[in-house]
Amino acid sequence: MIDIHSKESEMLQLLEKLVNIDSGSTNKAGVDKIGEIVAAEFKSLGYDVRVIGNNEVGNHLVINHPEAEHTDILIVAHMDTVFEDGTASARPFRIDEEKGRAYGPGVIDMKASLVSVLYALRALKNENNEAYKNVRIVLNSDEEIGSRTSRSLIEQETKGIAYALIMEPARKDGSLVTERRGSGRYKIEVQGLAAHSGIEPEKGRSAIEELAHKIVKLHELNDHEHGISVNVGMIEGGNAVNTISSSAIGHVDVRVATPEQASEMEHKIEEVCASTDVRGTTIALTGDISRPPMLKNEKIAKLFQIVQDVGRELGIEIKDTKTGGGSDASFTAAMGIPTIDGLGPIGGNAHSEDEYLEIASLTERTRLLAKIIQRLHVDK
Ligand SMILES: [Zn+2]
Repeated sequence: MIDIHSKESEMLQLLEKLVNIDSGSTNKAGVDKIGEIVAAEFKSLGYDVRVIGNNEVGNHLVINHPEAEHTDILIVAHMDTVFEDGTASARPFRIDEEKGRAYGPGVIDMKASLVSVLYALRALKNENNEAYKNVRIVLNSDEEIGSRTSRSLIEQETKGIAYALIMEPARKDGSLVTERRGSGRYKIEVQGLAAHSGIEPEKGRSAIEELAHKIVKLHELNDHEHGISVNVGMIEGGNAVNTISSSAIGHVDVRVATPEQASEMEHKIEEVCASTDVRGTTIALTGDISRPPMLKNEKIAKLFQIVQDVGRELGIEIKDTKTGGGSDASFTAAMGIPTIDGLGPIGGNAHSEDEYLEIASLTERTRLLAKIIQRLHVDK
């Protein structure tokens, strides 16, 4: 019998420590601090921790056990959050006993998951279950900004892997994630020509006007019924209200449901930006659909079945769902590896002030994770 319940207060203590360190994606020192704490914990369990240095963002960690016989399971979790520096001291970790919830920046996305992985493996080790050695853990530092520098690392570390377990939080109702939309970001930089709008407006070429045309055309690409969403979510531009704007920038978020839609949308966005509507302006388009969609194929359905069976043995009815948000599950799934996401504890309101963890789920989902690792190890 795996005993994790008695570890709850110890787990919450570690979680508090992690939450109270600012580790936004651009805060390298903070993310590295998280990495150091977590690395020390894994080392204490006998794991080797490889630090992949990075100048741009926090270092990534690849964790293996030196006595692994066959490493079949890849576990992926991220150490960065979306919160800016100062958030941890402004609203530190706190527990609402009545609600049974813990709050704080990154508490559910995904610091609770880091604690969960650690304690699942610790529990297996404590009961001399060899399964704990046969996992590889990748902890990356830039998931919240698209895993730009860790994607290739994750892909590389899938070598010899039969299953990928992604530690994004479970949904509010406890569902795991077996399907995700693909996503990407684009930046449209328009150059125009400045001129005084009162004295000689005819000499100006408005970058804002040009961008406006592009915004309308891009939004026309939306097809929510089929899972395509295109959103120019942020714009910048102009210098003064009486000046024809010489520059304007649009930031675009794109979501797609299928790989076909991904290439179709890439093509259409390039097409929209290939020509200008305002004569004399120019457009520079950068970006792509960086996360492919994750579809619930047969392999994923089969792995989910195993997870469901394990859940039943523990008295937990596990459901699955799809979501529009992207995660690193897209990378492993796109490589044909059976992937299940949402294996972290249960919580909600990620990326907001009300982000929370359901405390009871911390040990529950850790037990589930331990059992899944054990089952996949035996099945092999
Ligand atoms: Zn996350």
